Amino acid sequence: MDASYEVAVIGRGLIGSAAARHLAEAGCNVIVIGPDEPLDRRVSLGPFCSHPDEGRITRIAGRTPIWSQLAARSIGRYADIAERSGIEFHSPCGLVSSSPKISEWLENSKLAGGDARSVDSEWVSAETGISLMNGHPALYEGAPAGYINPRSLVKAQTKLVGQAKGVVVKESASTITALSDGYQINGNCGSLLADRVLVTTGAFGSELLNRPLDLRRMPRTTVTAEMSIDSDLPSLICVDPPDERLEEIYWVPPVRYSDGRVALKIGGDLRDAEPVAQEALTEWFQSDGSAVEAEALKNSLHGLLPGVEVTSWAQKPCVVTNTASGHPYIGWVEDGVAVALGGCGSAAKSSDELGRLASELFQSERWNDSLPSGAFDPIFA
Ligand SMILES: Cc1cc2nc3c(=O)[nH]c(=O)nc-3n(C[C@H](O)[C@H](O)[C@H](O)COP(=O)(O)OP(=O)(O)OC[C@H]3O[C@@H](n4cnc5c(N)ncnc54)[C@H](O)[C@@H]3O)c2cc1C
Repeated sequence: MDASYEVAVIGRGLIGSAAARHLAEAGCNVIVIGPDEPLDRRVSLGPFCSHPDEGRITRIAGRTPIWSQLAARSIGRYADIAERSGIEFHSPCGLVSSSPKISEWLENSKLAGGDARSVDSEWVSAETGISLMNGHPALYEGAPAGYINPRSLVKAQTKLVGQAKGVVVKESASTITALSDGYQINGNCGSLLADRVLVTTGAFGSELLNRPLDLRRMPRTTVTAEMSIDSDLPSLICVDPPDERLEEIYWVPPVRYSDGRVALKIGGDLRDAEPVAQEALTEWFQSDGSAVEAEALKNSLHGLLPGVEVTSWAQKPCVVTNTASGHPYIGWVEDGVAVALGGCGSAAKSSDELGRLASELFQSERWNDSLPSGAFDPIFA
């Protein structure tokens, strides 16, 4: 007979591993199903994840009060997750952000208990060596802002699932079939039964749902720049960077990558980017990404850090999954099946709270949180 669980979480990325941890630690009989990152993305048929590197910016200042709250709540639990799993993932190196909306970000930070403050480009240049030429206001947020290692966070959450007697299966699922008293899940993960299901498959996994969600999967190319730099750089978000083809760039300061290089990672949003069709996702992840985007990112890096010598460059593709609401979808999509996905390029830092909110769906009849449930309602295509 197939093994049976109260909840099956499908997708073991940032949100799914967090949701599974919260469920397991609340005493739920939970299984989390999801593969490790492909060993060789160029030949893998997926599914792929949106956290395949060593750095994701963390900060409380954010574009909505909800995003700031989600981040503050998650950041407040980083130390506990690291301590209990024995896996460190947080580097509190601070953040500089420059955009026309800085006053809103400062307000949102304050509401969520953050201490971001207004700074000017002279201060940024003197303290960090970053040359901001966009004419927009700027903020500085000190520790705990900085970056997290998303791969390590998934490892830490997965380890804690196991410690709390949750079951971890490192394979994919391909179908969810409704039965009279629950669901049957099949795929490389084998066959198993669950009373209820949480789908946390990021950009992938839409074949698991009966109705497609309104998601825009945006192709992104990231560039890593091997460099040695004397000063301690903060993380950076900069709207209207030096190369005009980009709306915005962000970077994570130099860290060691799996190829041995100590490199700064820079990424951004091309002004004319179009979503990737779902059928084209695998091919995109197998590719080198966009040559135009990579060139614009390199130009921007040189403009923001004048005089810094880059000894090698590398680039790769990724995907940001945007929702129609601008916040992740967390909620029921049919009786017994819920989703928690659509990170909108901002969910890594806040994944523990997003996973916790999703886990609460399975533990109480009603939404029981000061954040408005409507902000997270799944929207169908
Ligand atoms: C280039 C880039 C830079 C980013 N920078 C930041 C940043 O600086 N700060 C920040 O906070 N956020 C950032 N983000 C966003 C953040 O990484 C995502 O929001 C986050 O990864 C979303 O988490 P998730 O769990 O929804 O998806 P993922 O982390 O992608 O996890 C989904 C998982 O589901 C699995 N899966 C898919 N299909 C199946 C299936 N059929 N069966 C089983 N498993 C399946 C996948 O293998 C994957 O592991 C960035 C994203 C990108 C792409």
